[in-house]
Amino acid sequence: MKESIHCECCGKKEGFRKSHERITHENDTFYLCVDCSQIVYKIKDKVIEKNQSLADELATKFLSLAKSPSEALLSWFDNYKTKIGFIVHSTEDKSD
Ligand SMILES: [Zn+2]
Repeated sequence: MKESIHCECCGKKEGFRKSHERITHENDTFYLCVDCSQIVYKIKDKVIEKNQSLADELATKFLSLAKSPSEALLSWFDNYKTKIGFIVHSTEDKSD
């Protein structure tokens, strides 16, 4: 059985021309469609531009595209945000 590639975020299947971006994070591998990965890149741009409110908006948009975000996606996204310097609200204690 051939597994079809789908976007881990919005669930869109890989199209004929547009190929999904392959993401590897820790032990997980998944794919993001062009639209979703573009949002992710834009977040990085906004962080670089120090436009926190737009970056916030885009991050919310990204997560709203994921109807049922997987742990792999959330963990990767958290890691990504930390990596690009997005995370600024760290006043609350994390109780993991
Ligand atoms: Zn997508």
